Amino acid sequence: MSVLEAINLWKFFGATEALVDISIKLNRGLHLLLGPNGSGKTTLLKIWSGLLKPSRGKAYVMDKYIPWRDRHLIMKFMSVVFEDNAIPPWISGKDFLRFYAYQKNIKWSSVVEIAEKLGVTSYWDRSVAGYSSGMKKKKLLLTVLSSENDEIIILDEPYTLLDKESINIVNEILEEKLKNVEAIVITSHVLTGIEKKINSLTILFNGKILFHKNINELYREGEITYVCETNDQLGFLEKLYSEGIRYIEVKNNKIFFKTRRQLEWIKEYKCKSFIDVREIYEKTLLELSRE
Ligand code: ADP
Ligand code: MG
Repeated sequence: MSVLEAINLWKFFGATEALVDISIKLNRGLHLLLGPNGSGKTTLLKIWSGLLKPSRGKAYVMDKYIPWRDRHLIMKFMSVVFEDNAIPPWISGKDFLRFYAYQKNIKWSSVVEIAEKLGVTSYWDRSVAGYSSGMKKKKLLLTVLSSENDEIIILDEPYTLLDKESINIVNEILEEKLKNVEAIVITSHVLTGIEKKINSLTILFNGKILFHKNINELYREGEITYVCETNDQLGFLEKLYSEGIRYIEVKNNKIFFKTRRQLEWIKEYKCKSFIDVREIYEKTLLELSRE
């Protein structure tokens, strides 16, 4: 089963090709979509949310829903945040959230709990017209973060306009949510730490998929960076060297390296592994500019 799927999907806006023959499958877990401005991220997410109709090709949600046709059905188990989500300016944030929570069967106590965490209760009695962009963003994110009925969460640029503290709170809640939902899809310009939890990484450019790998492929293809700590650095480096591992970096008592192979002996050391999303992103765009 795939949670979100696109098959030979195209989207035109007049003469603009926003999506060019996209085929992709997203399964369970957290999926990160990166790409420069105008690469088609928002368009793809809006098609999966049923807000835009594909020009050509197919999009599916949970294998069977056609989002444009079944929007009223998928919205029962999907929450979305887009940058241009409209909210009437004359109502208060609290009234908006009350209405939303009622519509979506969200417990009011959950809304209050997260509103307090994000500092929204301090201003939510005021009408939306007077909110700063960051205040509006937090209020919008609340609709998704407080919902307990979702299978799919789609967040288009959730971090823009947020301060560091709010970003950390949002990420904590998303990590918790990952245990209960089918999938979370995030587009972002900034890397906030959530990339440590991804199940797939996709890079879009000019409406095309430049890079798409799930976590197993990333491991298999040596895209994972290991960081190890040891008192016997020299001995450790010799071992790496004898394994044929060459790209090694030593920084502040930590040894960074990459390998495509599973090293049994590494378990004896204090090692962590992570995906260097920034490096993959920069490398992918650089390769493109060389072509
Ligand atoms: P991203 O989210 O990656 O920045 P978008 O999906 O918003 O990219 O946009 C992809 C392309 O489609 C851009 O060239 C953009 O100008 C165009 N586009 C998006 N929405 C519209 C629209 N409603 N009308 C005309 N062009 C659009
Ligand atoms: Mg966008």
